[in-house]
Amino acid sequence: MELQIIKTQHPKQKPAAGEPLGFGKYFTDHMFTMRYTAGQGWHDAKIEPYAPVAFDLATTVFHYAQGIFEGLKAFKNEQGEVRVFRPEENFKRMNRSADRMCIPRIDEQFVLNGLFELLKLEKDWIPTAPGTALYIRPSIIATKVALGVHASNEYLFFIILSPVGSYYAHGLAPTRLLVEDYYTRATVGGTGESKCIANYAVSLKAGEEAEKKGFDQVLWLDANEKKYVEEVGSMNMFFVIGGEVVTPALVGSILPGITRKSCIELLQANGYKVSERRVSIDEVIAAQKNGTLDEAFGTGTAAVISPVGMMEYKGQDYVVNGGEMGKITKWLYDTITGIQTGKLPDPHGWVVKL
Ligand SMILES: *Cc1c(COP(=O)(O)O)cnc(C)c1O
Repeated sequence: MELQIIKTQHPKQKPAAGEPLGFGKYFTDHMFTMRYTAGQGWHDAKIEPYAPVAFDLATTVFHYAQGIFEGLKAFKNEQGEVRVFRPEENFKRMNRSADRMCIPRIDEQFVLNGLFELLKLEKDWIPTAPGTALYIRPSIIATKVALGVHASNEYLFFIILSPVGSYYAHGLAPTRLLVEDYYTRATVGGTGESKCIANYAVSLKAGEEAEKKGFDQVLWLDANEKKYVEEVGSMNMFFVIGGEVVTPALVGSILPGITRKSCIELLQANGYKVSERRVSIDEVIAAQKNGTLDEAFGTGTAAVISPVGMMEYKGQDYVVNGGEMGKITKWLYDTITGIQTGKLPDPHGWVVKL
């Protein structure tokens, strides 16, 4: 398949240096798009000027949420070298999400190539201040125009790019989590392990209610028993309990995070014991009470590593590590961002350079 490149005649004003970027507020000059039609496969791949796209209101994705996405980041170091963190992992996961949502698979190598062409064109949009990056959002949506609950036979794949600062308004300050014991995000056999758009609609209500009460995010428990810790809004969870690093096992309702996987690999390579197992909220609370809950943190592309300073469960507050960022949390943050930006060596070969 050919990749057509149409450059914009009207480049946008870029955010001024030093201006807070926030998250997902600015978009670059170009986007990558590709269409799928049953019988023909993926076709019409192009990089074109970023612009709104018109859709018929009977388009499948608007009614039945047949859509998936990914999130990854590109960085630029002082030498102007563009570095992308484990992008092949994202397109592999995208194909697993596609299978679950009856969406046709993409050619991972072709799309990766398209992403690199797009990044070459948008190099000047990559911010370089500490904590900033170019966030990459690949998506696939069902575009057949018809009502009726069936998998679509037409799709749009796209990649858009957004220069971003830190995910949370308060940056790296420890977060406050509300342990959610009523609402459910995902069930085993459902779509929790797929990065499908509907998962996020399902999570909004609990998130809004938690925010109203002054929390940053919800900590989800398993749907069946409301007993085991699953994950946070867009992050996987880790606890350090009596020297053991513990993260919930990927039982089917948890998103298999690439930052999670990277943390496990880094910790193990540096002699830490990491357990992927079920962790009950009672175990976490008991550890907090007896002083063995050393650290708690979330991991995800957007926030990278996010320390947890406090959790509320059934009306009780539980402070973690005196509300401060823990030692392992800090080490992981520094190591992963160091590898991403090129300040540290990349012994695992995670970074793809343009
Ligand atoms: C994307 C996501 C994560 C984090 O995955 P990364 O690959 O580390 O970015 C965790 N949980 C949910 C629900 C997510 O959507």
